[in-house]
Amino acid sequence: MKVRKECELLATCGFFQKHCKVNELACKGFVSMYCRGEMMDQCKRKQYSRKHGKAPVDEMMPSGLIYRG
Ligand code: SF4
Repeated sequence: MKVRKECELLATCGFFQKHCKVNELACKGFVSMYCRGEMMDQCKRKQYSRKHGKAPVDEMMPSGLIYRG
């Protein structure tokens, strides 16, 4: 299997763009696990987008839980 370097949705991902950029430290784990890591296809945001044809709320984390600041 070809290993991709980062999630193809990163540039448009609301969670990444809205929260990870301002709170880098808190997002570090997610980014290394999901956005730029082995679990990118298990990201609940991505699964939601594929299933519904639109992105979930920006507050949904890759784990599927809702981020509350
Ligand atoms: S949170 Fe999920 S959909 Fe968003 S960039 Fe990271 S892996 Fe991709």
